Amino acid sequence: MIQELINGGFEHIEKEIRQCANCSLHEGATNPVIMKGSRDPKVLFIGEAPGKTEDMTGIPFSGRAGKKLDEMIEYMDLSDKDYAVINVLKCRPPNNRKPRKTEVEQCKPFLMAQIEFLDPKVIILLGNTADEAFWGRKNMQWGVPVVDEDGRNILKIYHPAAMIYQRSRIEEQKELIDKNRNLWE
Ligand code: SF4
Repeated sequence: MIQELINGGFEHIEKEIRQCANCSLHEGATNPVIMKGSRDPKVLFIGEAPGKTEDMTGIPFSGRAGKKLDEMIEYMDLSDKDYAVINVLKCRPPNNRKPRKTEVEQCKPFLMAQIEFLDPKVIILLGNTADEAFWGRKNMQWGVPVVDEDGRNILKIYHPAAMIYQRSRIEEQKELIDKNRNLWE
């Protein structure tokens, strides 16, 4: 399925996501949330799932956590053409609950097809849900990059929402970014 999605191009991936009923989350979603940013990104950020604002707009990270992500991106010195943003799940879980394993598995072909299609040099996993979804299990330490079998650098840092609720995370996140700048500069 992943190869078929990639072969069809990005519009095909988008259409399949819009029509998807693989899990029950589509029932409560106003809009599926597909991606924002460049289609030729150096850096791909992967978050968890749409929240209330994202569900309304159809745009990933368009709410409060999005403002934190924008600040992070500015701190990383990335320009608009350098990055894209997607989520593990494309439809909002009710009351922003954590994604279930089955939902992650059902949505994973879209995630992997987006990664293959966008073909970034660096993947930044925003939090543990993205880590578990990408590898199939929790695999990474915060701020310690690894190279995957496709030669991509994979890095896990904090989800931007963590910086809303725990302000001490802001400085910690900057440290994680500073020690990994060589990956994207
Ligand atoms: S969350 Fe993913 S698998 Fe579930 S309905 Fe939406 S697009 Fe399909």
